[in-house]
Amino acid sequence: AHMSIKATSQSTTESACLYHGRKAKERLQVLVVGCGLGGLATAYCLGQAGHDVTVFESSASLGEIGAGIQVCPNLSRLLIRWGLDRILQEKSELDKPSTFSYVRYNTGQQVGMAMLGEKMTRDHGAPWYVIHRNDLYEMLLSIAKPFMNLKLRAKVKHVDPTIPSVTLESGETFSGDLIIGADGIHSVIRETVVGDKDIPLAIPLGDVAFRTLIPTQPMLRDPELRDLVENPRLTCWMGPSRHAIGYCVRGRTEYNMVMVKPDDGSTYSWTAKGDVKEVEEGFQGWEPRFQKLVSLMPSVLKSKLLICLPLKTWIHGAGRVALLGDACHPMLPYRAQGAAMAIEDAAVLGNLFSRISHKSQIPTLLKAYQTIRFDRATSMQTGSMENRTLYHMLDGQEQETRDVNFRAALEQAVQ
Ligand code: FAD
Repeated sequence: AHMSIKATSQSTTESACLYHGRKAKERLQVLVVGCGLGGLATAYCLGQAGHDVTVFESSASLGEIGAGIQVCPNLSRLLIRWGLDRILQEKSELDKPSTFSYVRYNTGQQVGMAMLGEKMTRDHGAPWYVIHRNDLYEMLLSIAKPFMNLKLRAKVKHVDPTIPSVTLESGETFSGDLIIGADGIHSVIRETVVGDKDIPLAIPLGDVAFRTLIPTQPMLRDPELRDLVENPRLTCWMGPSRHAIGYCVRGRTEYNMVMVKPDDGSTYSWTAKGDVKEVEEGFQGWEPRFQKLVSLMPSVLKSKLLICLPLKTWIHGAGRVALLGDACHPMLPYRAQGAAMAIEDAAVLGNLFSRISHKSQIPTLLKAYQTIRFDRATSMQTGSMENRTLYHMLDGQEQETRDVNFRAALEQAVQ
């Protein structure tokens, strides 16, 4: 409690003067394409740095899908610095996972565990939270709102990287000093930045993710499931070519699950409905607790997972248009870092552009942004792929060695 009081008072001061109060000497007109978590964070950070920000969002309304999201310390640290610690605690303290527990898919036996909780806070200076995506979205919106001129139903069709300007589907054109493409995995801005010949398409990886929120009341009535709610933790079931992650959100009233299995040729969509039967069939032979969880699922969303190879550049040659978040480094959700990387990108942009004193510095600052961010985001893309290999091992020698190593680490952690 003492620590959290200290953190609260610190962050209030810091948020009041982000970048130690440094405001840009030259005020830029910034156009941000996309109002996902990355676009919102960009609006906040560039607004705080003293710029005028217009955000174009193709949807008619704002918000996120009904699902959970992990807020690892690298992300929670930023949110706390931005003054969101009190609301973050309010929304997710009860759900805060004490451990990351790895279990065998068919027995439910724990083979490995990482300590989160207080240890994570001590080691990384900020907690590991889990939260409902919409709550995270609302938090960022609350701090970004004062800074952004938001245009809804504003689908960007074309970007002219030299003026620079964006043209909407409606035909309207807006020009500014700097354009940030935060328009997600199917980014329109990416095509312009990378160049026509080299358009890297998002590639299906061969996995599909099902997502659901299970009401926890029936779980609490079941002696085998109760513990998952009463002792909140991240549980990762590892099975052949499949894995699943579960944790509580919204004050332990809902249990969020993501289940990944080989794709059966579904089409890409972020919001498509799947069928619980597909989960039943795809995870036959999994342990009894898992089967019970499946039987409690009210519905599932189904998303084909896509990857995109690291781009050659995130910045257009004319130096006025840059990409951010999933638009330039989409990654598998197997390390829970996609949104965190988008929001880190925004923090770096804000810091750099709080230093600008003349428009001629834009290309240099964008280069610095890419230099600071590229290796880190790329390593998360690669790391997420590595987790796929680790989680999805077929039963056999390699998997047994993995589990022995996990157990050894577990014993060390418990000692
Ligand atoms: P998006 O959220 O895709 O936002 C892009 C926005 O741009 C959208 O609002 C879209 O409508 C708009 N747009 C698109 N085109 C246009 C256009 N032409 N004109 C105007 N607007 C446009 N990350 C984590 O950090 N932790 C996790 O635990 C985690 N779990 C995940 C679980 C799953 C199953 C998946 C699939 C992903 C997960 N991620 C996680 C990753 C995370 O969701 C994404 O990386 C993050 O949402 C990307 O944010 P973004 O703002 O870059 O893009």
